[in-house]
Amino acid sequence: MKWETVIGLEVHVQLMTRSKIFSGDSTAYGAAPNTQACDVSIALPGVLPVMNREAARLAVKFGMAIGAEINRTSVFARKNYFYPDLPKGYQISQYETPIVGRGSLEIDPGDGPKTIGITRAHLEEDAGKSLHGSSGDFTGIDLNRAGTPLLEIVSEPDMRSPAEAVAYLRQLHALVRYLGISDGNMQEGSFRCDANVSIRPLGAAELGTRTELKNINSFRFVEKAIRYEIERQIDILEDGGTVVQETRLYDADRDETRSMRSKEEAHDYRYFPDPDLPPMVLEDAFLAEVKESLPELPHDRRHRFIEHYGLAPADAAQLTNERTQADYFEAVAEATNAEPRTACNWILGELNAALNQEGIPVEASRIDSDALAGLLDRIADSSISGKIAKDVFSAMWNGEGDADSIIEARGLRQITDTGAIEAVVDEVLAASPDQVRQFREGNQKVIGFLVGQVMKKTRGKANPKQVNETLRRKLDA
Ligand code: ADP
Ligand code: MG
Repeated sequence: MKWETVIGLEVHVQLMTRSKIFSGDSTAYGAAPNTQACDVSIALPGVLPVMNREAARLAVKFGMAIGAEINRTSVFARKNYFYPDLPKGYQISQYETPIVGRGSLEIDPGDGPKTIGITRAHLEEDAGKSLHGSSGDFTGIDLNRAGTPLLEIVSEPDMRSPAEAVAYLRQLHALVRYLGISDGNMQEGSFRCDANVSIRPLGAAELGTRTELKNINSFRFVEKAIRYEIERQIDILEDGGTVVQETRLYDADRDETRSMRSKEEAHDYRYFPDPDLPPMVLEDAFLAEVKESLPELPHDRRHRFIEHYGLAPADAAQLTNERTQADYFEAVAEATNAEPRTACNWILGELNAALNQEGIPVEASRIDSDALAGLLDRIADSSISGKIAKDVFSAMWNGEGDADSIIEARGLRQITDTGAIEAVVDEVLAASPDQVRQFREGNQKVIGFLVGQVMKKTRGKANPKQVNETLRRKLDA
């Protein structure tokens, strides 16, 4: 039988606020355990939560960016469960009325664009962390993370392959970073994903029974975990069994999923509106202010880069993945006389390689946009060849100065003087009688050897186009 895969993702995004969602505790990562845990975070009796306005602002920003309905009134609810890292015995979340309603995200998994529905996005607080074996045989509890603001983004079951799931995740990850609502740091847990996976006979209208996969903390593992799970479900169904709805843990070391607990239903959580928090009402002025603060969205910017600068769609997509990189490109394109395509190639090629090598972001580049524009100008006006420009680039990266002073100091300026080029060409022709004869007998390929000789003698500085023309003129004579 042919099976169809169905995937829906729940993504927890840590919002970049300075303080927690319901208290003034800092959200900074990496502090000593329980040093950022006030009475609200450790849930002393009688304390009251106070909603962080900035968290609401970031959530609305996201909602507007995915074209979603924003609920002007949303309600916080208690989700009740017991766990040692949750001292209140409930998590404050949103249930029936989330802040962000239905929206969508366009992805491109490689075979053309596809729109993935987003069901909702709601605000909630994070729990603390259990530190197993932190003190002898005991498990310690660190409540620094308790109360960190999260936006849980729930997708429709619209993805049909592991590749689509990864494309959606990458797009979402790029978007939250682009909007500046989260740092998206996956190692630190600022961007976490649970994957719901089911299969059904191809063409069936009803969804199959799903399992929920937890503990997948990288794009690569999402793909592997889902792949494993699909195979597991197919084996069960083809053996005549039934898939049990449950939560499964992905074990990256063994590359398998295993049962963690049977899936709890919403009613198990005894959701009810939190009496400590009034419904959150968003005023017109607040919504207008957030709307005003929205940057040009990656999707729109990508299209503008294609139309305005004539970039290839794949390049435009790559540039607009990071807002800072797109900004850098525009600054170079505006400042240089070179073609925008050239600027794009240098940024995605040479510059990215240098940044990756050092593991630094484009904001920390040792060559700023004006300096790169200066280098590209020298290619555009034929002062140097693209090849020599790479050496100049390295020298600039190493702090030897701007393009002009390096070209001057190292005597790299391209030789465009016709007389000088002719003199070297004559020398080379005189020294290569065999090749000259071969050329005249019809072997066009030896021209490459002759060009090489001229370039060698001029230490790569002769203008290649002129060298070629001069050689052909003399050989044809
Ligand atoms: P819960 O309340 O248990 O979290 P939801 O109905 O809110 O369940 O769905 C959670 C996620 O599971 C959503 O992303 C949804 O798209 C996805 N999902 C629901 N049913 C299926 C299914 N049969 N197969 C795959 N994904 C599913
Ligand atoms: Mg859920």
